[in-house]
Amino acid sequence: MSAPYHGSCNCGAVTLTIASEPLWVRQCWCRQCQKAAAGNATCNGLFRTEGMTVDGTVTWRGYTAASGNTVEHGFCPTCGSQLFGRNPSREGAQVVRLGALDDAQNLKVNAIIWTSEAPDWAYFDPKVEHWSAQPPGPAAKFA
Ligand SMILES: [Zn+2]
Ligand SMILES: [Zn+2]
Repeated sequence: MSAPYHGSCNCGAVTLTIASEPLWVRQCWCRQCQKAAAGNATCNGLFRTEGMTVDGTVTWRGYTAASGNTVEHGFCPTCGSQLFGRNPSREGAQVVRLGALDDAQNLKVNAIIWTSEAPDWAYFDPKVEHWSAQPPGPAAKFA
């Protein structure tokens, strides 16, 4: 499947449509993601917010990440499904949890990040690039 992508939370109170392909797809093993993802890594696509439609109420909760940025997780307040992540350094784009998409079959993981915080049993695909923490990158502006 390719764009447009459609998705929802578990209860259907929040639905979304995304017009474009992701800028990247990553697994994140940071501790906050492990708590959000029931002990595993989160699987995330960074998508442009232009052309992204979200219907329903999303609750946002922020925390200060190791980078010093306030990172926010967005979830359905009714069923608790994790749906989004956002970070002020990524203007014009936000993370969508791949589990929210009806079909993420063709979205291949480009990078695995925060491996230093993963449990010993975690498996990292050797064909995918790894970062022990947050990968360096240019100031992300996707307006
Ligand atoms: Zn829901
Ligand atoms: Zn994370």
